[in-house]
Parts: sequence; C-alpha cells; structure tokens
Amino acid sequence: MRVHWHRSDIRASDNQGLAAAAESEDEGEGEALPVFVFDPDVMDHGSPPRMAFLLDALASLRETYRERGSDLLVTRGDPAEELPRLVAEYDAAGVTWNQDYSGLAVERDRRVREALADADSEYETFHDAVHHEPGSITTNNGDPYSVFSYFGEKWLDREKEDPYPEPDGDDLAEVETGAEGTNELPTLEELGFTEPDSDLPDAGTEAARERLESFCAEDIYEYGERRDFPAEERTSRLSQDIHYGTIGVREVYERTAEAMQEADSEEAEESVEAYQEELAWSEFFTQVLYYNPNVVHENYRGFENGIEWREDEAELDAWKAGETGYPIVDAGMRQLQRESYMHNRLRMIVASFLTKDLMLDWRAGYDHFRTRLVDHDTGNDNGGWQWAGSTGTDAQPYFRVFNPMKQGSDYDAECEYITEYVPELDGVDPEVIHSWHELDEAEREDHAPDYPAPIVDHDERREEAIAMYERARGEDEDDD
Ligand SMILES: Cc1cc2nc3c(=O)[nH]c(=O)nc-3n(C[C@H](O)[C@H](O)[C@H](O)COP(=O)(O)OP(=O)(O)OC[C@H]3O[C@@H](n4cnc5c(N)ncnc54)[C@H](O)[C@@H]3O)c2cc1C
Repeated sequence: MRVHWHRSDIRASDNQGLAAAAESEDEGEGEALPVFVFDPDVMDHGSPPRMAFLLDALASLRETYRERGSDLLVTRGDPAEELPRLVAEYDAAGVTWNQDYSGLAVERDRRVREALADADSEYETFHDAVHHEPGSITTNNGDPYSVFSYFGEKWLDREKEDPYPEPDGDDLAEVETGAEGTNELPTLEELGFTEPDSDLPDAGTEAARERLESFCAEDIYEYGERRDFPAEERTSRLSQDIHYGTIGVREVYERTAEAMQEADSEEAEESVEAYQEELAWSEFFTQVLYYNPNVVHENYRGFENGIEWREDEAELDAWKAGETGYPIVDAGMRQLQRESYMHNRLRMIVASFLTKDLMLDWRAGYDHFRTRLVDHDTGNDNGGWQWAGSTGTDAQPYFRVFNPMKQGSDYDAECEYITEYVPELDGVDPEVIHSWHELDEAEREDHAPDYPAPIVDHDERREEAIAMYERARGEDEDDD
C-alpha cells in the first residue's frame, strides 16, 4: 500500500501520483491510501473563498472515494510529522505526491522528504500539475525563458501525455473510520475562517468537467475573437479548477485537442490554439516562480533607483471598494467582491489603474487579489501583477498606461458588464458612462447621484507615473 498525499490535485482521475500509488507492485496488493493533510502553514496563507472552495472540492473527492469503497483520510498538522505517522500506522510501503512549485511548497517538500527518509519510508514525486516541468523547456543554453514567446512556441509544439487512468475500488485502500486520523472534514470555522461573502463556483471534478465541456462545445471556437469582452462570458472559467487540480491538465488539453479536430475553419483552429496558449502562459509563470521564488515579494526586474510608489490608504480603499469613479475599474473590482473572480481583461485594467493611475505598489494589489480571488495562484497572480506594474518578465512597457475610458468603450461599449456590477449606473446612457470623467458635478448628480466622481485625473497621473518609472530607471524625463 502507498499513501497518496493529495495537495493541489483534488481529484481521482488523471492523477499521476495517485495512479502510480495504485499501480505500485508492492508485496500484497498495490493499493493507494488517499490522504489530505490540513497544514497550518498553508492555512496561514488561506482566505475564506479559497478555503470554502477547497473544502467543497475535498468533500466531492471524498464522495468519489466512498463510492469506490474507500475514503479520503483527513488529518491536521505538519505533513513532515503526519505522513511518517500514517505510513507507520497503515504499514504503507511509501508515499507518492505531485509536485508544487512555489518557494514555500518546495521547502515543505524538502522537509517531508527528509522526515520520510528518516523513517525509512520510500517516497516518489511526480510532475503532474504541468505538462512540461520547470527545466524541460529552456533556451538553447539551457536557461529558463524569461520571455514567453519562444517558451509558448515550444510548449505548443511538444507532445502532451494522455490522461492517467482513474483507480477503481480494487486499487484503493479501505480507510478505518475512527483511526487516529479522522476522515471527517473540518468546518471553515474550525479552520479559523469565516464564511465567504461571495458566490463561488461549484467545486469538484464533475463541476470542472461541465465547465470544460460547455466551453469546448462552442465558445472555444470564438475564444480568440471574443474572450476580451467581459459581458459575453466566453472564457472557460476553469482557473480555480486548474489551480486546485479538480481536473487534470492532460484531460483539459485532450478535450481542447478534440475541439481542434472538430474545428471547421482556420479561424476556429486559431481560436483553439489561442486557448491552448493561455494554458502555456500558466506553465510559463509556474517556471518563473520556480526559478525565482522571491518574485512573490520582489520585482522580477531590477531598477537602478527603486520605484517611488505612492502611499495613499484612501485611494487604495476606493480601488478595493470599486469606488474610484472610473466605471470599468469599479465594475471589475465589484465583480471580484461579488464572485471572488474577475475577467482577465478587467484584471489587466484594474491592475494598471492601481499601479499607474494611483501609482501604488503592485504588492498592495496582489495582496488584495490573494485574499479575494478563489482562483488565486501564486505564479499566475504574481505574473499578472508584475506584468501590469511593468516590473515582470514580459511586462507591459512602463510608458504603456491603459486608458480606463478607452478600455471601457472598446470592451464594454454598451456598458452591459459595467451596469451588471455597478447598479448606480443602471439606465444611464453608455456614452455618458464612458465620458464620466468629463462631466461636471451637476451633470453627474443629474445622471447618477450615487456614483462617485473620479478620484484622480487619468491624464495627469499618466504623466506622473511615466516620470516615476523613468526616475526608477535612472533616466531623465528629457532623455526621451
Ligand atoms: C493582475 C492579474 C492577476 C491574475 N491572477 C490570476 C490568478 O491568481 N490565478 C489565475 O489562474 N490566473 C490569474 N490571472 C490570469 C487570468 O486573468 C485568469 O487565469 C483568467 O481570467 C481566469 O479565467 P478563465 O479560467 O475563464 O480563463 P481562460 O481565458 O478560459 O483561460 C484558461 C486558463 O488559462 C490560464 N490563463 C489564462 N490567462 C492567463 C494568464 N494571463 N496568465 C496565466 N494563466 C492564464 C488559466 O489557468 C485559465 O484558467 C491574472 C491576471 C492578471 C492580469
């Protein structure tokens, strides 16, 4: 018997580590004993929406195991103590797990390896959360890529593995209820979290499969053209599933490859490839994080003088609350509040607004996203923020400052998305909404008395932000 330690792979299907545990040729039967450990160190970085989603996903996984005559063994504590204890208690031959790539996870895994070796237990780890593990797609010199384009091309060209088989009842160990570890899941409260105040997506493999199927049946063929229009909701909404591993990356890719086969035009094929390229972006940021664990706290790029970010609690609070007086920014921030999710175009807009219009440190935005997003993923979130703040790998050049009014009129011309999340503007003419920054007080009062005036002047702040970056780069404004 092998313990399979579930972490960011909350599923039984297409799970490399679990399949290996189930197929191991140990004396007696090859069986997997599925385990989840609530690690206080990981809980410290949790948030109500993410913990709620995780608990629901675990409940769904436990149900899958119970249907097969097994169970999910759940314990709380330091995995470096819990896993050797479970190995001894169940007389298991070893432990399998799938690798995570953040600095924290790498350090925890090092400690667990040591503890298992000390306990004379075998262990085996797998690259399961990505198709191509960090270090497998490199420059010709063998260095990790620091820009996406070549990484993306190679990622798309490489062959992908098929999904791993799901263990059946015979491949799974029976879990003794009432053993020292308990297979009851703790409540949010017991874990120290409050109920989330947002509407979360359904958790679990079945829910993830439904999202994948519905996306691949239709929207994937227009993803390339329509993904940037938030009111149309044409994206896959799989980010929390991919992050928590409620669905395997091979299963997702296989379904997109089938969609490619079924595409009936060149545009449709290009659109499927545009989607696959987004999956590659996620693996690109995973390898950036793996090789640069400090990006969580530090700029990826060095700046000669450091960036003199402003500090302004009132502006930060207005941004968080969706009360900046820039309708498209506020709609994005309120979607985040209401759903613990935000459309990608909006993430770019609000992140640009925080770093360039408010000139506030990207870390303040990242921290807010980390606590609010159900799909918070260290690599992707950090990659997105450092891109917007012009401090990252393939970052937006510092002098490119999103114009929030133009973004609003380009991507939400009829203000369907804006009015969905900013009801104070419901019924107001879209042209008025897109020119909110130009209205005087009386006009604003007349059209939407409850909606705030813009808290900053975009054109002025744009100039100031460019000057801030130029000082950081050691350039005089006059040099341009
Ligand atoms: C400031 C900022 C913060 C972000 N934070 C996160 C985060 O915490 N977690 C997260 O998964 N994504 C993050 N993203 C990337 C992207 O916004 C989300 O992945 C996407 O909006 C999720 O919706 P979806 O699943 O419908 O995406 P789809 O468009 O359907 O994309 C499919 C999948 O590809 C991956 N993906 C898509 N776009 C990106 C991208 N730009 N970078 C990396 N991977 C991508 C995700 O896994 C996503 O689920 C962030 C982007 C920005 C600009």
